[in-house]
Amino acid sequence: MKSFAEYEVLAAAAHGHMCAGQILGLRLAVLGCRLLGIADPAGADRKRLVTYVEIDRCATDAIPVVTGCRMGKRALKFRDFGKVAATFCDLESGRAVRVIARESSKQKAREMYPEIADKNQQQMRAYRDMADEDLFAHQWVRVRVEPQDLPGFKGPRVVCAECGEGINFKREVVREDGSTLCRACAGERYYEVLPSFEPE
Ligand SMILES: [Zn+2]
Ligand SMILES: [Zn+2]
Repeated sequence: MKSFAEYEVLAAAAHGHMCAGQILGLRLAVLGCRLLGIADPAGADRKRLVTYVEIDRCATDAIPVVTGCRMGKRALKFRDFGKVAATFCDLESGRAVRVIARESSKQKAREMYPEIADKNQQQMRAYRDMADEDLFAHQWVRVRVEPQDLPGFKGPRVVCAECGEGINFKREVVREDGSTLCRACAGERYYEVLPSFEPE
């Protein structure tokens, strides 16, 4: 693993700025890897890890900097629970650990560095220095990573009977009448199709 200072430089570049969330995300990922005994997550051990993140905020961007797990490699999964937490799954041993940022860490940062007025600066400083136990809680968990969710899964690509769009990774829905639909046509659409128009 790299030094924390090196990770900070990489995180700032990936995220666009340095912030308390980057420090928190880096520390969270370092702890997750350490608990699993994964020494070189982005190198020699890069095929061992799948990470589930639970929020789309600053800290999440820092996690792949340490783990090497990226969404485009199918090794980073997003479950939108709105929590600063992530679960690290070791595919080799089958072990998984969920690491959660403690609610008390902001208060602790105020107590550690009351002289720093700027909240972000105060938290950055404190999150660098705080003990793991003060920043995080963790729990050992079991995650059933389905074969179609694993990096490298090869499976048939099917076509939606309604919209004709291709569907990968077994994300299709088979109805009682046997027809195969995409999740959008099956009722999970997050968008509404508008009548086509030409912008002026
Ligand atoms: Zn940020
Ligand atoms: Zn469809």
